[in-house]
Amino acid sequence: MGFSALNLNQNLINTVTKLGYETPTPIQAQAIPAILEGRDIMGGAQTGTGKTAAFALPIIQQLMAQQLTANASEETGKKKIRALVLTPTRELSQQVHKSFETYSQDSGLTAALAYGGVSINPQVKALAQGADILVATPGRLLDLLDRETLTLEFVEKIVFDEADRMLDMGFMEEIRRILKHLPKKRQTMLFSATFDDAIFKLSKSLLNDPLLVEV
Ligand code: AMP
Repeated sequence: MGFSALNLNQNLINTVTKLGYETPTPIQAQAIPAILEGRDIMGGAQTGTGKTAAFALPIIQQLMAQQLTANASEETGKKKIRALVLTPTRELSQQVHKSFETYSQDSGLTAALAYGGVSINPQVKALAQGADILVATPGRLLDLLDRETLTLEFVEKIVFDEADRMLDMGFMEEIRRILKHLPKKRQTMLFSATFDDAIFKLSKSLLNDPLLVEV
């Protein structure tokens, strides 16, 4: 089965073909059509399974489907964040951001990146330009929210990537605070390499009738 069987648009099929991807990985085959239908997802997948494209490709397609110009504020022409990806570490945020840049190369969408441990000022400046997608670590995202550098009120899609590591690293309180900035009506996707009581509890509080996808 090729990517065209997953309801992806021609722009994205061309992009993955250019990257040399021929066959969707199992998590992609299961998650992409469900995410395109708007379903919440609980995905069990390690790094290396193709999980980043499993959420990035359908998110890019959904954002593209809304008129691009509709996401420029009439007064400022600035794009508003419509998809948010939370990751536990700087390294993962950088990797996921790079994947979004690669997969959205011909889409007209833009992706911003924010992680801690470095000066916040360049990130504040970059976010001032606006973006469609934001990949962030929880602590730095809260700093940016506290400074009123960005708003999450237009976020329609949120991904919790490596949710188990986020909990292990003690980010539960940060996640709770971030959730207060997000609209209630949204599509939520949670990916985790392991599942225990804490993850199931988090999933229950975050996800609405999720499809369980395991590889
Ligand atoms: P990930 O699990 O998201 O970290 O992806 C692992 C690696 O697999 C990345 O280097 C991707 O570029 C690559 N990849 C993702 N999906 C596919 C695919 N369908 N076919 C070939 N390579 C892929």
